[in-house]
Amino acid sequence: MDKETILAARQAHLGPSLSLSYQEPLQIVRGWGAYLYDENGRPYLDVVNNVCHVGHSHPHVVAALAEQAALLNTNTRYLHPNIVRYAERLLATLPEPLEVCFFVCSGSEANELALRLARTATGVEDLIVIDGAYHGNTQALIDISPYKHDGPGGRGAPSFVHTAWMPDPYRGEFKGYGRDAARQYAAHVAQLIAEMQAEGRGLAGMIAEPLLGCGGQIVLPEGYLQEAFTAVRAAGGLCIVDEVQVGFGRVGSHFWAFETQGVVPDIVTMGKPIGNGHPLGAVVTTRAIAEAFDNGMEYFNTFGGNPVSCAVGTAVLDVIANEGLQENAARAGAHLLRGLAGLMDRHPLIGDVRGLGLFIGVELVRDRTTLEPAAAEATLIVERMKDAGILLSIDGPLHNVLKLKPPLVFSEQNADFLVQTLDAVLAELVDPAAV
Ligand code: PMP
Repeated sequence: MDKETILAARQAHLGPSLSLSYQEPLQIVRGWGAYLYDENGRPYLDVVNNVCHVGHSHPHVVAALAEQAALLNTNTRYLHPNIVRYAERLLATLPEPLEVCFFVCSGSEANELALRLARTATGVEDLIVIDGAYHGNTQALIDISPYKHDGPGGRGAPSFVHTAWMPDPYRGEFKGYGRDAARQYAAHVAQLIAEMQAEGRGLAGMIAEPLLGCGGQIVLPEGYLQEAFTAVRAAGGLCIVDEVQVGFGRVGSHFWAFETQGVVPDIVTMGKPIGNGHPLGAVVTTRAIAEAFDNGMEYFNTFGGNPVSCAVGTAVLDVIANEGLQENAARAGAHLLRGLAGLMDRHPLIGDVRGLGLFIGVELVRDRTTLEPAAAEATLIVERMKDAGILLSIDGPLHNVLKLKPPLVFSEQNADFLVQTLDAVLAELVDPAAV
């Protein structure tokens, strides 16, 4: 099928709320490592995809999937070693008392279950969420995702959802990455709790990404989650960390991004990279919370934890360890951050460069004092980078943050290519004749 035929068939047969990337959509037919290839064999460096974590079509993961699929795939109501082996491997990456796994099929299913665990264990419904957050596509998750319910087509937060200020060290009310900013932002969480308590409402918990994805690739000020979680726990709430975007070594210094904040959550949710593209998700929690949830209503998930998914999940953990991908995320990520920060001298459009490991944001502004967002410029840059063979995306509530979150096989050479190309594209934006 040629591109026009596929496009026409999509328009005819698929829901129109599904979008395509780029003015001229790409047809992608193959993936390998950090690269995607179009129908003509042209390679594109994939700096968007944090799902194919260990590299597109990784042979060890593909073999694990194919071998198990050729032998057996069924639900979890028979004894099978894959699920327990995988649970042991996953739990070995987590601190105590996180010792019980639930396997699901997506990040949304993981967060949906996390909400049910927290609400069942506490007996109350109210949740604190961070402004700008996205946690998934079900109704319960749209309810706790300001990115959606406060955006186009949204109907705002329901009464049981309380939105904390986005702890944005660059643009937010309190500047900086230090403890002072953390304390001031966390004070807003405490204030929300006090207001709820004054109304006689109980707190089920707080859900937070340890780095904000849809919020605009934001690194939290040091100690923010520690302070916020202390307030939540004092009110009887549970602390849920959404590692769907940032887990599995992406931040480089640690395997889990919550570790960079010095906290141990009560519930951790996982998705995207966990299966390298295979639909897999997980929730890990404490024995006490899992037991409170065992109230007579069975939790069954037809596909969650099946032998094929568990073989895939195990293979992903193998590759992260065997190929040193967490260490690579630290090394290549630091190199990329340095290169991008180096562009700030020549390009006033770059207001901020931030990130941890291979989770990086470049915030574009028209004026470094007023911070006027450069959204149209961001769109143009992403289009021009694509023309030059590099795929990027845009995020943040003001649509002005270039989002960099490549597979962890992304190399320092890939980083150099990206920085040089972005340098040229930014120069061209100011003076098209210069290139
Ligand atoms: N949590 C976060 C932080 C996400 O970014 C996403 C997906 N973008 C989800 C949850 C939902 O995951 P899924 O699309 O696999 O349901």
